[in-house]
Amino acid sequence: MSALLFATSNAHKTEEVAAILGRAWQVEDLRAHPHITLDEETGDTFEANAIIKALSGSRGAPGMLVLADDSGLEVDALGGAPGVRSARYAGETANAADNRAKLKVELAKKAMYSRFAGRFHCCMVLARGGEVLHITHGSVAGHLLLEEQGAGGFGYDSLFVPDGFTDSFGVLPAETKNQLSHRARALAAMKKKLATRL
Ligand code: IMP
Repeated sequence: MSALLFATSNAHKTEEVAAILGRAWQVEDLRAHPHITLDEETGDTFEANAIIKALSGSRGAPGMLVLADDSGLEVDALGGAPGVRSARYAGETANAADNRAKLKVELAKKAMYSRFAGRFHCCMVLARGGEVLHITHGSVAGHLLLEEQGAGGFGYDSLFVPDGFTDSFGVLPAETKNQLSHRARALAAMKKKLATRL
């Protein structure tokens, strides 16, 4: 089993990545490396922010393979918002419930739309020793609900229904989300690189 540091403190994301990568990888995150501080996400794109996290994480864990993701929700009717600001949509100290509440308010202002198309997007960056080794992207298209459905998952999951399904990610089993999510797709592409053990 090889060790991989996933540069996040979001236990939900780590759980998803560990489930998708399977037994070949021992996935640790920043909760096991509290001395590592990631640089601020100052980028305008998912890729720029994922690179910032991967590089700063890898500098804090010399010799380790470090994976970082930056992800978020893009809603067409909102010009792509919340986008890279997904985690901070309702303000710098906002939690997931605050962000969902803000999204519902913004969607309600767009009464001319009968369906809100959107997608989750994820960029994954693999780094070691302050050097980027590989970059992948993945996304999952769907539509937004005006009211939460289900309590599973995290973030905007209860407001997002992936194409081909009638239930939100808050209702669908984790196994289903982990087969088609933006993170699963970015990771599937990354897995080929990881398989080489670099
Ligand atoms: P990050 O940690 O800076 O990448 O912020 C990602 C934010 O996007 C999260 O805090 C969530 O608000 C949202 N997000 C990303 N992936 C997901 C997902 O799989 N489900 C629900 N929300 C997500």
